[in-house]
Amino acid sequence: MPREHLASRTSVFNESVIREMTRLALLHGAMNLAQGYPDFPAPDFIKQAAIDCINADINQYAITWGSPRLRRAIADKNRRISGLDLDPDREITVTCGATEAMMCAMLAIIEPGDEVIVFEPFYENYVPDAAMSGAELVFVTLRGEDFLFDPVELRRAFSAKTKAIIVNTPNNPSGKVFTHDELQQIAALCQEFDTLCITDEIYEHILYDHHEHVSIATLPGMYERTITISGLSKTFSVTGWRLGYMIAPAHLSNALRKVHDFLTVGAPAPLQEAAAIAIEQADSYYPELRAMYGHKRGLLLNALREAGFHCHQPQGAYYIMADFSDLGFRGDDTAFAHHLIEKVGVAPVPGSSFYKGTAGSTMIRFTFSKSEETLLEAARRLGGM
Ligand code: GLN
Repeated sequence: MPREHLASRTSVFNESVIREMTRLALLHGAMNLAQGYPDFPAPDFIKQAAIDCINADINQYAITWGSPRLRRAIADKNRRISGLDLDPDREITVTCGATEAMMCAMLAIIEPGDEVIVFEPFYENYVPDAAMSGAELVFVTLRGEDFLFDPVELRRAFSAKTKAIIVNTPNNPSGKVFTHDELQQIAALCQEFDTLCITDEIYEHILYDHHEHVSIATLPGMYERTITISGLSKTFSVTGWRLGYMIAPAHLSNALRKVHDFLTVGAPAPLQEAAAIAIEQADSYYPELRAMYGHKRGLLLNALREAGFHCHQPQGAYYIMADFSDLGFRGDDTAFAHHLIEKVGVAPVPGSSFYKGTAGSTMIRFTFSKSEETLLEAARRLGGM
């Protein structure tokens, strides 16, 4: 028998389907409504700040926990917006994107075999994060038009083996924004079963209609057991800058910081400084961002509905889950996604990449984090389906 050189953990997850769809979109000249990143410029104030910071010779490692000015800006912003009173020296750590933060969180808290609860549909990274840290995922399905969880099913998912629950709000891919009441139910279970909560709040500023973002860390009894993850990518349209952060009480942050230090040392120093400058001046920018995405949501929802999709109207984030059952296509979501890319010229992500079971097989996900030009051309192509 030849020796197996690869670790078994690499065989339990696949390459990212989202990024595979981007490659296919490029190959076939399709409008890329698959991968959630903006194809339009980042705001001038953040770009200018980065140019100034490189010219100011901020080019060496930042402190591994993150630039002091950026951690202070994150703390000040939280005091103003969520009401959390954070100590930037002990409770905030800057990472290479929210992606690194999630991996750090899992590596810092998971013993092999620990269970972690995840709502499905889920963001695809949580599966490899679990595989690499040794966690067993327990899925709770969000159902119906508004992607609601069944409180009985959620309670059944908790046990003595539960180490943590991952809460992603606003949610990718469903667009669900968890309500205060829903978060309160999750918080009560976390306290009853003495589990941690890891949140992914990367879309915190992208909200529609009357929906408001609530950080579960602000609920009574939750700060001590919550790792809050967010970042700059989606808010400032700089997904390639790789700037995320994690907020946690000192006893958790100490472990998170050790993992982060030896995984990546730190995020790009000049971009951290630029991020601090951007966050310091962003309070008036957040409503503009919300209005911009509200308009884009309307454009894509109309186009998809006119083409015959049944769409879940997102409450936040920048994705639409669309059901294609009424379109008469014979085949599953992956076949339909390939058909759209090759024959219609619009790239989505197959719904099944966000589910463990088959619940996603009649759905595909589109992103509207694209320029008006891209969205109008996609609408034109979908109109000719
Ligand atoms: N979060 C984005 C999405 O869901 C980008 C994923 C990625 O490629 N990291 O499309």
